[in-house]
Amino acid sequence: MKSLAGLLAAGLTLAAPALAQDLRTAVEAHVDGAQRALVSELVEAVSIPSVAADAANIRRKAEFLRASLERRGFAAELLETDGNPLVFGERPAAGADRTLLIYFHYDGQPVDPSRWQQEDPFEPVLREGSLADGAGLLDLHASEVFRPDDRIYARSVADDTAPIIALLGALDALDAAGVTVTSNLKVILDGEEEAGSPNLVPAIARYGSRFAADAMLILDGPLHQSGRPTVSFGARGILTLELVVYGPRVPLHSGHYGNWAPNPAVRLAQLIASMKDEGGRVVIPGFYDGIDFTAEERRALAAVPDDLPAMMDALGFAEADRVGGSLQEAIQFPSLNVRGLSSAWVGGDARTIVPATATAAIDVRLVAETPADAMFAKVRDFIASEGWFLLDRDPTDAERREHPRLLRLTRSAGTNAFRTPLDHPVAARLIGSLTEIWGEEPVRKRTSGGTVPIAPFVEALGVPALMVPTVNHDNNQHSPNENLRLGHFFRSIVSFAAILTM
Ligand SMILES: [Zn+2]
Repeated sequence: MKSLAGLLAAGLTLAAPALAQDLRTAVEAHVDGAQRALVSELVEAVSIPSVAADAANIRRKAEFLRASLERRGFAAELLETDGNPLVFGERPAAGADRTLLIYFHYDGQPVDPSRWQQEDPFEPVLREGSLADGAGLLDLHASEVFRPDDRIYARSVADDTAPIIALLGALDALDAAGVTVTSNLKVILDGEEEAGSPNLVPAIARYGSRFAADAMLILDGPLHQSGRPTVSFGARGILTLELVVYGPRVPLHSGHYGNWAPNPAVRLAQLIASMKDEGGRVVIPGFYDGIDFTAEERRALAAVPDDLPAMMDALGFAEADRVGGSLQEAIQFPSLNVRGLSSAWVGGDARTIVPATATAAIDVRLVAETPADAMFAKVRDFIASEGWFLLDRDPTDAERREHPRLLRLTRSAGTNAFRTPLDHPVAARLIGSLTEIWGEEPVRKRTSGGTVPIAPFVEALGVPALMVPTVNHDNNQHSPNENLRLGHFFRSIVSFAAILTM
């Protein structure tokens, strides 16, 4: 502490590794002394029911967090939307010429309490480890100090309340040590992320100038499985499709009509098979157009420490698709995934019929080069080129008489991907600050596989965005028994302190 204060008084910045170690020591010392207070604040926040549809309670949580921001020197208020309010706070930093917009969400997934191993998902409990390993209960309210393996079980604790409290904890630690925050801060807390953030983009029309920033940080999600600090430069988007192929008007007796009446299940299977080669690569013209990696990007992809043989063993398959040379490369491409198939009946319900229809549910995961509308057009044109007459509803009698191949194709609106260049200057500073404080490079993910509802907001604001996930990967996000490992929580405070002083 002393050396840090001395060095700061001498006018040095916290760029050098030695100073980063002093910063880490100071923050860790503060966190050690503040564990009880930090856990209490987190527990209080997640004790307020946080399902987006529960408007009264979620507003209580918004108010609680607004007060938490104010205690850390933010000018904080609720920004009203057509749905739940956004919590918005601003904290300028003297002399800073960079403004960070930091995004979190304060709502959680809906709950089914009958599937939780505790009375109420909004009455947090403490366990001496993971429930998956049979860890027993501890007294959450009596503990003064916590072990890294201790876990809090509650809805929204990991996704995404802990990062909010961790950022505030980092500011407490820096303020206590007299260390200057080097960015003007704007924080935005979304109350509808788990409901698809329908009011985030519309909020730009009302409050857009308030959100102006040089870069956006999304503090949400789990660390890479290796446990190393992780930075993700983007997220894939998604477009969903439904294909319905029509056969005879009603299911027909397969003995009387098989070999004569066309079978929609077979025709749908043939169509799907024509979309991909043996290695799983999509052969629809232009599907992968525009996707390319620099040598540096290829190196970054290869540096992600995925243990693919172990993952294949755990997941139980012998051969991977050959879209990219690795999992990280594969997710740089858009995917065409059959997520469900249905025609007539199977198992004990199977009948000797020619089915009347066959349905495929497909998702197309998008990357930055492949926006939803363009990808829909490519898939649609390919199906038409295979001789299908396309509909957006059931066929009429006239259409049934006229067209041998009838297919209803419907789509979702889609959510586009976003991606920030690996060599963006803000990213370089952020990676540098995490590397210095932890003494090792974070895992850099060029894109996360999943889709985040915040992508259209990022796109509309036009700012570079980085995701900094911090919670344990086995947090049961979106499932019963959501949990936060406290070691991850306390370490995230150190990471955030590094970012706040980068
Ligand atoms: Zn989340």
